[in-house]
Amino acid sequence: MPIYEYECKKCGAVFELIRSFGASDVDVKCAQCGSPRILRLISAPSRVSKSCGPTSRGT
Ligand SMILES: [Zn+2]
Repeated sequence: MPIYEYECKKCGAVFELIRSFGASDVDVKCAQCGSPRILRLISAPSRVSKSCGPTSRGT
């Protein structure tokens, strides 16, 4: 199951929860203050860092 990242709009705490697909916003509460006002952050599961070549080419 994917891990979602949430930010509390009340206290600003950022926490992660493992939720099933389709239930990412169901019954999510802040891990610190218990506020239901939660903003789900978009987190990339796997960062693919493309390394570009040298930007300056002397041709
Ligand atoms: Zn909170």
